[in-house]
Amino acid sequence: MQREKRVSLKQEIIKLIKSGGPISVSAYMGECLANPKYGYYMQQKPFGSEGDFTTSPEISQIFGELVGIWCAAAWQQMGCPKDIAIVELGPGRGLLMKDFLRGTKHINHFHESIEIHMVEVSDALTKIQQENLKEAHNNITWHKEIASLPVKPMLLVCNEFFDALPIHQYIKTEKGWSERFIALDDEDNFIFTDKPSFDLPDIYNEAKIGDIVETCPAAEVIMSEIASHIEMADGAALVIDYGYGGQKFGDSLQAMKNHQYSDIFENIGSSDLTAHVNFDALQSAASQYNVNNYKLISQRDFLVNLGIELRMQSLLKSASDGQKDEIISACERLIDPKDMGSLFKVMTITNANMTNPVGF
Ligand code: SAH
Repeated sequence: MQREKRVSLKQEIIKLIKSGGPISVSAYMGECLANPKYGYYMQQKPFGSEGDFTTSPEISQIFGELVGIWCAAAWQQMGCPKDIAIVELGPGRGLLMKDFLRGTKHINHFHESIEIHMVEVSDALTKIQQENLKEAHNNITWHKEIASLPVKPMLLVCNEFFDALPIHQYIKTEKGWSERFIALDDEDNFIFTDKPSFDLPDIYNEAKIGDIVETCPAAEVIMSEIASHIEMADGAALVIDYGYGGQKFGDSLQAMKNHQYSDIFENIGSSDLTAHVNFDALQSAASQYNVNNYKLISQRDFLVNLGIELRMQSLLKSASDGQKDEIISACERLIDPKDMGSLFKVMTITNANMTNPVGF
């Protein structure tokens, strides 16, 4: 079954290239991840120990709990509005929201004031989220895109959502900037090629021959929509992802299968493809609106500032000896400065009336 799927998506992309010529890296990534029939996210089991990669909410319940505390604190800073949307983009299996809701149950009037909106492109993952959240809250709605969210105050969260959006890659050549495309060799294997592109903005002027620039217009459009919503209707957003600020060049496109790096031209539709998030580009998209934009911080700083140590101590009190080791190593993994603690970054924007979001 799996093999048949893989062959099919590969054949579809080959057909696409044969009929219309080489495709951009962005079109390739879009097909691999979100082809409506065979795309990677349309299958059921990308996450967790049996899947291809493990995300923070899959590592420890504390992650979603602390994101929940962050939102509840922001809600209090807004004056505890009675009707507010909690939005999650790209919720995977729905564990972040499950832990978020369990962890905030005791906060006075919070649950009656919120409605939950999940934005998920995959029907298969939507089903899993619905199953995992069936007892978590009585007002949860699913959307395919953020355009259908209600216009009301919102607190939006996402983890590893932006890194799944398709990127374009440009390479500096002797003749100027070229965009990288994917073509076929004589045996129908995928190969990189490039075509002259428009000039990139001046910020890339110092590029040397061979330097690669990645752009993600889809991410910038979504961040603009979020900032515009927050400017108009109030609220805040919290974006957590594998990414960088202050870096301009590099090829970060990578494939993951069974927790191993894999060739981006292999296991098509059955391996995850991601690119690191360019937070400078997201912050610059948000800064076009009248919102407060805070300094990017590391996942470690965010979780430590929100009290991961205290929460861990309280979980340890009721844990068995075996569970204790697991709880401690999961928390260490989330904040390890040599790994997820620094590779993952946290960005927040708030309505101009809100200052000092917790953790920043
Ligand atoms: N947040 C989850 C899952 C991250 S994987 C976690 O941390 O475990 C990326 C998620 O984004 C998946 O749920 C995928 O189906 C979803 N996704 C990818 N592209 C999307 C898009 N354009 N719109 C909505 N959801 C998308």
